[in-house]
Amino acid sequence: MREAVEQLLLPAECLLCRALLSFRDSTRVVCDVCRHRWRPLRPPWCARCGQPEPLFGRCRLCAGWPAVFGLARSAVWLDAGARDAVHALKYGGLSRIATDLAAVMVGLQVPALDAALLVPVPLARARVRERGYNQSERLARALGRRWRRPVVDLLVRTRDTVPQTALTPEARLANVAGAFATRNAEGGTRNGRTGECSAFRLPTSAFQRPLVLVDDVFTTGATLAEAARALDRAGARTVSAVTFGRAVVPDFT
Ligand SMILES: [Zn+2]
Ligand SMILES: [Zn+2]
Repeated sequence: MREAVEQLLLPAECLLCRALLSFRDSTRVVCDVCRHRWRPLRPPWCARCGQPEPLFGRCRLCAGWPAVFGLARSAVWLDAGARDAVHALKYGGLSRIATDLAAVMVGLQVPALDAALLVPVPLARARVRERGYNQSERLARALGRRWRRPVVDLLVRTRDTVPQTALTPEARLANVAGAFATRNAEGGTRNGRTGECSAFRLPTSAFQRPLVLVDDVFTTGATLAEAARALDRAGARTVSAVTFGRAVVPDFT
């Protein structure tokens, strides 16, 4: 409903360069020209975390990840236009841009995708209230439509965390430690807190399936690794992750 209203009220022009969109593209938010300016990540990269390979030694970015977390890939570097697009999704209330972002994630290579379930990284409840939606969930649903894979809300945030943006890599790890839990498989309630989501039922075999975490941005991977840890505790066999953007992080080598 909200999206339908947005579509009626917003002129059909590119969010980033304001060029008019053709009628065929009028459901899009970003024009082809802007989309082609986004810089895709390309190999050579660390086979596990997808970060460009360090010149010397092994990759430090994913060294501390739990064993279950085998692979992370991002579609584009988070500079200029790509950053604006994520901001529109996160802070601009423009959830339908998720379709545009998902469109560049479709080509990401994930093992056993044809059996996988997509798992959005959950947002703190206060922020969902503020924003009206969880951007990762919107992104997962848009990607799920393209990949024809189901989206399952397996994770909940157990506590709020401070925004990661200003933190060092070490502080990021501490900030997200223990921030996620899996939903109660029997009742499906959020840790039995309020009875909210009581109609939610986990497929009993969900944790046996390949799980693919979906998030908007990969910065150091700390949040994704922590989410993978929660899935691991619940018995997940393999966890991968895909994000739209990858921050140009400080050099760890
Ligand atoms: Zn444009
Ligand atoms: Zn790595």
